[in-house]
Amino acid sequence: MTLRAVHHPDVERHHPEAFFKRGQMVPMPELPRRARAAVELLAARGAALDIAPDYGPAPRAAVHTPELLAYLETAHARWTARPGFSDVVIPNVFQGPGMGGYPTDVLGQAGYHASDLSAPICAGTWAAATAAANVATHGARLVAAGERAVYAACRPPGHHASRDRIGGFCFLNNAAIAAEEMLALFAAQGRRPRVAILDVDAHHGNGTQEIFWEREDVYFVSLHADPAEFYPYLAGYRGEVGEGRGRGYTRNYPLPLGTSEADYLAALADALGLIRAYGPTALVVSLGFDIYEGDPYRGLKVSTPGFARVGAAIAALGLPTLLVQEGGYAIDDLQANLASFLDGFEAAHTEGNDTHG
Ligand SMILES: [Zn+2]
Repeated sequence: MTLRAVHHPDVERHHPEAFFKRGQMVPMPELPRRARAAVELLAARGAALDIAPDYGPAPRAAVHTPELLAYLETAHARWTARPGFSDVVIPNVFQGPGMGGYPTDVLGQAGYHASDLSAPICAGTWAAATAAANVATHGARLVAAGERAVYAACRPPGHHASRDRIGGFCFLNNAAIAAEEMLALFAAQGRRPRVAILDVDAHHGNGTQEIFWEREDVYFVSLHADPAEFYPYLAGYRGEVGEGRGRGYTRNYPLPLGTSEADYLAALADALGLIRAYGPTALVVSLGFDIYEGDPYRGLKVSTPGFARVGAAIAALGLPTLLVQEGGYAIDDLQANLASFLDGFEAAHTEGNDTHG
C-alpha cells in the first residue's frame, strides 16, 4: 500500500523568529522547512501528492468561534498599524474569570485568545493556518471517500488550539477540523458518525481535548510526557476523562519524562485497545515526532527504528486513517523518522488488507 498525501505551499508562510518561554524570547523551532521536509520525503517515496483546494470558512467555523477566526484574520494588520507595536502579535494581558466582555482592542483580543505566549502571529500566519486547515479538510474528505490512509502535511500544528484560544505554536486545530469534516460526511453517507483521535505528539493535545470534552462521537486519546513536568503543564492528567455526554470519551496517558521506547509501546498498545473497543468509523492521528529520543524537547525516547513499530501498531487497527502532522523539532532527522513510521504503517496496513481480503 502506498500512502496518499496532501500539502499546500502556503503552510510555509508562517515564520515567526522567536517566542516567549521561561521569561525570555527564544528561537522558534517550528520552522517552515518542517513541512517541506515531509513533502519531499513523500514525493521521493512515490506517494500521490494532492495540493489542497480552498474549502472556504466552513470547515474552520465548525471548530472555532467566530471571534477567534475574525481576530486571527485581522490581528496582524491591526496590530502593526498601531504606533509603537512590534511586527509580531504577542499579548501582554490575559483574561480571568469575571472580567468584562469581549475586548474590542486588538491588544485585549490578543490576550483573550491566547493560552500562552508561544503562538506569535506574523504577516503570513493566517494564510499558513488556513492552508493547513484546508490540507486537513482535504485529507478527511479523501478518507471519507474511501482512501485507506492519507498523510496531511499540516503546519503550523494544531492540537494546542482550542475553540477560542491559540497557544503552543498552534492557531487552528487541524485534527479537530478533520474529525468534524469526517463526522459530517459519514452522517451524510449513512455511516456511523464516530471518529477517534489518537494524539501521539510528546505534548498533551489540550486544544483537541477541550474541543471534544463533552462529546461522545469523538473519542480523544492522548499519550504524552507527564504534564507535571512538561508543556502544557495545566492539562493532560490521567483524571481528565471528559464531562457530561463526553464522560469516558477522553483518555490520557501521562508518561514519566524519559519513558523508554518499550514502555511507550506498551502504553500505546493499551490506548489502541481502547480505540478498538470504541469502534470508530475512522481514525485521525495527531502525529508528532517530538517523542523522538533526539528531539530538542527531550520528553520521551522513541528511536528512529521505533517509529516503524509505532506506525505498525496504529495500522494494525485496520481503520481508515488520516495522519495529521503535529510537532517534531529534530528537523534534520524528521525525514528518517517519518520514513520509518510510514514503513511500519504501510507494511502493517498491507498485511491487514490481505488478511481481510
Ligand atoms: Zn509537541
